[in-house]
Amino acid sequence: MDFNYPPETEAFREEIRAFLREAVTPEYLEEQRTMMVDRDGHGPATQRFVDALRERGYLTLHWPKEYGGQGRPVFEQAVFAEEMARAGASTYIVGSVGLNMVAPALMHYGSEQQKKEILPKIASGEINFCQMFTEPEAGSDLASLRTTAIRDGDEYVVNGTKVFITWAFHANYGYLLARTDPEAPKHRGLSLFMLDMKSPGVEIHPLSLIDGGRHGLIYLENVRIPRANLIGEENRGWYHAAITLDFERAGIGAVTRNEEDIKRLIAYARTTERNGQRLSADPEIRKGLLIAYRDSRITRALAMRVLDIQGHGRVANSEASELSLHSRLATGRTSETKALVYGMYGQLFQDTPYAVEDGDGVQSWWRLAGRHAAGTIEIQKNIIAQRGLGMPR
Ligand SMILES: Cc1cc2nc3c(=O)[nH]c(=O)nc-3n(C[C@H](O)[C@H](O)[C@H](O)COP(=O)(O)OP(=O)(O)OC[C@H]3O[C@@H](n4cnc5c(N)ncnc54)[C@H](O)[C@@H]3O)c2cc1C
Repeated sequence: MDFNYPPETEAFREEIRAFLREAVTPEYLEEQRTMMVDRDGHGPATQRFVDALRERGYLTLHWPKEYGGQGRPVFEQAVFAEEMARAGASTYIVGSVGLNMVAPALMHYGSEQQKKEILPKIASGEINFCQMFTEPEAGSDLASLRTTAIRDGDEYVVNGTKVFITWAFHANYGYLLARTDPEAPKHRGLSLFMLDMKSPGVEIHPLSLIDGGRHGLIYLENVRIPRANLIGEENRGWYHAAITLDFERAGIGAVTRNEEDIKRLIAYARTTERNGQRLSADPEIRKGLLIAYRDSRITRALAMRVLDIQGHGRVANSEASELSLHSRLATGRTSETKALVYGMYGQLFQDTPYAVEDGDGVQSWWRLAGRHAAGTIEIQKNIIAQRGLGMPR
């Protein structure tokens, strides 16, 4: 495996850098600093930035050309994510579920009519999805979900509850996983749908998480979905949903963001004194900073391994879980070090008097909420044990 990017990606890196120099404005960075996109949506500067990304095809870099994408190789997609992170920009935007999750499933399993109609609307931002999978009794064990979608002529009638739904307040469609065959074994009776969020019987309640994000608790009562909105085959939804894994790109943007974060933390500790002593001279802090630095190097190595696998056209499975597990544990350790570095003032929110490093300490704790999404730490361990090491369930 190669730890470097192929040399031919460098021209593309230059193109992205030139674009970002123009497009990342102080107004955009201020919105990124103070707003939370899943709570507030896009501010005007963020909207302008997202439009510029869209115009240049950067939001559909990973889509094949035949579907209107750029068909860029895996390494160029990674370079894009890396440069975005370095510039303080983000593709965590309203619409990312459609672009990264629903579109791949449609390309593989959608009807010709759906591909023709829906893919261009996802690309243009006219259709934005939220992912409606988790339920109060089905999170890690998703296949045991209870929301039913029962056929009634040319429609399905849906009843159930979905919880923790990011973008619930900004999406016009839900990417819904529901049980269409209650008699079948649990993985086999599920189907995927496009749900118009304005349909009668859809009730969305706000659910605020510790990080300030606003998610949705969604009740579905006798909601009617036209049969044409079934994605792929009936009762094959579980397997269709898995296809999005092929499109995951090692989260290299997050790796770079983390590296920049640790650089700033080390610089702060080297230049700040407490009780007449430089913070970086404190043995506990030194140890924490070394661990944070070491963790960031390991995270990059694991991410490059996943990229290498994907670059060779294979699907990273337990390797992706190793990366995910390590980076989730590392963010916890770094947050503990930040508590030592920032001291008592580290508990103050950004924009309050005496806040340190723009409230970075408290924000780091909040962000740990994200460690639960897309498979918890224990679930990643189970995947590594079973699929990576061949241990029994
Ligand atoms: C920030 C955030 C955003 C989210 N966005 C969405 C979204 O947009 N759409 C959506 O559908 N869902 C979303 N979720 C939900 C997320 O997918 C679930 O929280 C996650 O799958 C875990 O499910 P749970 O919360 O029900 O926890 P549970 O599955 O109940 O787990 C509780 C604890 O038990 C452990 N555990 C569970 N099973 C096992 C096992 N077999 N072995 C060992 N330990 C186990 C877990 O690791 C965890 O510590 C989001 C969650 C968060 C935090």
